[in-house]
Formats: sequence, C-alpha cells, structure tokens
Amino acid sequence: MELDKQVLKELKDAAGASGWTDDPATLEPHLTEWRGLFRGATPIMLAPASTGNAAEILRICNTHRIPVVPQGGNTGLAGGAIPGQDSGQPQVLLSASRLRKVRETDTNNYTITVEAGCVLAEVQAAAARHGLFFPLSLAAEGSCQIGGNIATNAGGTNVLRYGNTRDLVLGLEVVLPDGSVFDDLSALRKDNTGYDLKQLFIGAEGTLGFITAATLKLFPASRSSAAAWLAVESPQAAVNLYVQARRRIGDELVTFELMPRIAIEMVVDAMPACRDPMDAPHDWYVLLEVASAREQASMDEQLSEFLAEHMEAGLVRDGVVAVSESQRSEFWNLRHNISEAQKHAGASIKHDISVPVSRMPEFLVVADERVRAEVPGIRPVPFGHLGDGNLHYNLSQPEGMEAEDFLALWGRLNEIVHTLAVDMDGSFSAEHGIGSLKVDEFERLGKPVELELMRSVKRAIDPHNIMNPGKVLRV
Ligand SMILES: Cc1cc2nc3c(=O)[nH]c(=O)nc-3n(C[C@H](O)[C@H](O)[C@H](O)COP(=O)(O)OP(=O)(O)OC[C@H]3O[C@@H](n4cnc5c(N)ncnc54)[C@H](O)[C@@H]3O)c2cc1C
Repeated sequence: MELDKQVLKELKDAAGASGWTDDPATLEPHLTEWRGLFRGATPIMLAPASTGNAAEILRICNTHRIPVVPQGGNTGLAGGAIPGQDSGQPQVLLSASRLRKVRETDTNNYTITVEAGCVLAEVQAAAARHGLFFPLSLAAEGSCQIGGNIATNAGGTNVLRYGNTRDLVLGLEVVLPDGSVFDDLSALRKDNTGYDLKQLFIGAEGTLGFITAATLKLFPASRSSAAAWLAVESPQAAVNLYVQARRRIGDELVTFELMPRIAIEMVVDAMPACRDPMDAPHDWYVLLEVASAREQASMDEQLSEFLAEHMEAGLVRDGVVAVSESQRSEFWNLRHNISEAQKHAGASIKHDISVPVSRMPEFLVVADERVRAEVPGIRPVPFGHLGDGNLHYNLSQPEGMEAEDFLALWGRLNEIVHTLAVDMDGSFSAEHGIGSLKVDEFERLGKPVELELMRSVKRAIDPHNIMNPGKVLRV
C-alpha cells in the first residue's frame, strides 16, 4: 500500500513536523475497531493542528484522488473510522486529535465553541468550570471526541431530556473534500436563512467532510439530582412506570434505562467489584435519574415519594434510592459494564434498534420468540435507553455452543431483528450509525427515495468520493 513519494511529502508538509506518523506501533491502535470487528491499514496518519492545515491536506487528497478516513477517539461501534478495509487502495487516516482548543465560552449566550479533537469529558469539564452543563454523556466519554460525537450524532444517557448530539449543535466548521471551509460557527438559536446545511454533516460519519470545530449549547448546571435502582415485573411495567414518571416529574426526568436480570447476573459474575443492589432477584430493572437546576429543588425527596407511591400500587417491586455519589456510581457501573460482561459469557451478536417506546414490550416479545425459534438456547440480553425507545438487543450464544458456530448466524439474526424493528416503525440503527457494519442492511432496509437523495448529496459535495468511501452508502 504505497502513496506517490512526492504526494506523501506534500501531505507531511501540510500536516507539519509533528503532525504525521507512519510508525506501525503508533498506528496500531488506530487500525482496529473497539470491538475488534474491523481491522484496517493505512500508509500514514495525518493529524493537522489547525483548520488551515486540514484544508490543505484535503485539497491535496482531492487533487490526487486519495481516499481519506476521518478519525476521532476511535470508539465508534460501526467500523466507520477504520481505514483501508479491503479497498486495495491506500487510504489516509485523518485524525482530529491535535485540534484540542476550547475557542470560546459565552456564559451569557450559554454556548461553547470547541475544536473537534476535544475529548467529550474535556468539553463537559470546560462547561463545568463556568458553572454550566454540557449534557452529552456516554460510557466512552473519556476517549471519544466531540467531532466523532457530531459525526455519529451520538445519543447516550441524557437524550430523554436534552436530545441527541444534533440537538446540541448550533454551529459547525467543516473542511469539505475539495479543501474549502464551510464556516458556520453560528451561536444562534434562531436563524432561518435557507437550508440548514450543518445538519448534513451531523451523523454523516465523515462521508461529507472533516469537522474541525463546533459551537454547542450549554445548560444551567443541576443543583439537585437523585438516582434510583428499581425492580419491575416486565418491560410493559417499565413503560407504564416511564409514563407515570414523565407525568409526575416532567422535564426533570433525565434518564430511564432498562436492564434484564440476565444482564445483571453477567456483570456480577464477571466483575467482583459490582454487586446487585437488591437482596432478592427480579426479572427486570430500571435505572432512573432526575435532576433539577432549581435552587430549592429536593430531587431525592421527590424521587422517594414517587417510588413509595408506585411500590404501594405494585408497579415497582422493589427500589433503592442512591444515598451517595458512590452508590449512584455503583448503579451506573452495573449498567455500563453489561457489554464488557457479555464478553465473559461467550460470543454475542449486537443490535442497536429503536421503536416507539409504546411498542417496545411487543418488540421484545416477538423478537425473543423469533430468535429462540432460530437458535434454541440463545440468550437475549436487551438493555439500554428505554426512555428513548432505544435498546441494545444483544444476543449471547447458547451455553455450550461453539462461538464460531454462533457467529456464523450473524447475518440471519441481524435480518430477523432488523426487519422486525423496521416493520414496527423503528430503526435498525438507533445511535451507532451505519459505518462499514450496516452498509448492506441499509441497502436492504433503507427507503429507495431516501437512499437516492443521500447519494445525490454525496455526489454533489464529494464528486470524487474521497471522504470515507464505502462507509454508510454505496455510491
Ligand atoms: C463503551 C462504549 C459506550 C458507548 N456508548 C454509546 C452511547 O451510549 N451512545 C452512542 O451514541 N454511542 C456510544 N458509543 C459509540 C461511540 O462512543 C460514539 O459513536 C462516539 O460518538 C464516537 O466518537 P469517536 O470520537 O470515538 O469517533 P470515531 O470512532 O473515531 O469515529 C466515528 C465516525 O465518525 C467519523 N469522524 C470522527 N471524527 C470526525 C471528524 N472530526 N470529522 C468527520 N468525521 C469524523 C469517523 O470517520 C467515523 O465514521 C459507545 C462506545 C463505547 C466504546
């Protein structure tokens, strides 16, 4: 995999002396997807330290038709940031990791302007230093970058109240494939001047341009919050509880996560530091969080009252309200360690589906029936953001089955689960994107007019198909 020597020199010059590497050991962690599903190759990784340098790199690549794969923290779960997977053509890796500045915080306007390579936790911390709050939060926040979050339109645990990343972006700066800069770092909440072009780049997974900076919405920090770990009888009971919680707690309900017993058993078995907060086992659990920016709010009291009422009515079987930050973290550790613990229970096949919240119980019944009919002994482990209608419908292999035999069923199980989600007015890719992983499924399940419109947009912005070719769409 070689690039022309003169072009390579031009690219190195554009990135600057410490802005590139071709050292195999340094490149290694950038070439494998987080779950190990994809492995790629590249002749060079370029890491520009300014928008101008990134623009020069893309101009050179466009002139010489060199494919470019943008990469942030490489925590994406769809293989979108991995270069050179069976393309036969050298693909340049374009990292945002040196674009790390917080350019401006406007506390009166409740906005922050950051460069794309800022790690999500740094953006949260920068807001907190001003007593404000940036609500995007996910388990990978210590390593994913805000540019990657925008490129994937990440969801996470606060979507119920604050929306997806898309809802948090006011302005963007993006280098287009030809090296020109789409400079729209607007800090306006109202601006109806023509098409809202920045939306095209949010969730485009690096196929339309390289995001270099963003202006984001901030919010008042919460003054009072509370978390509860609840046991419920079934997903339907969880949905009923969710409806009650929204009615009673309103916008102060921040998180509503669902987990089955099997997920908690897997975590507790695999991770000795994690423990079940309840003495007796229950079939389903909800992790619920409330928060308020109001001065006099006493959220733990409000949550305890809500809980007592619904335990009396029988909707909640048991419940624990966190009495300390460390107990709250214990709840979240159980939730966040499910994927990791599943690895200890053999091979698993994962899905990231959404359906309207009201239809989730039906989805779970039908999906379980269908996958069990296909693979007797299969162990469904559905968990996640019930309040957003988004669950990770993960399937662990039957005990005693060879991992390889189970993984050979990947396509068939995807087909069953994805088709069901789409038939129930849902999505087969709720928050992780398409990347390389779901290109075939997108071709199969995407609406023809929608796919064609996307191809037209791709051709218009990237006529030489240099930006992350092969990801998201077949053009
Ligand atoms: C433990 C764990 C938990 C997770 N939890 C969640 C969750 O709750 N919700 C959720 O939505 N996701 C979750 N994810 C997935 C992942 O963290 C998100 O998709 C995240 O937004 C990716 O950011 P990144 O910087 O790592 O991007 P990368 O993985 O580097 O890239 C992802 C995609 O964005 C493109 N890209 C990256 N940077 C840029 C840029 N500057 N310009 C243009 N394109 C770019 C890449 O080409 C690629 O297609 C989780 C992942 C892990 C490992």
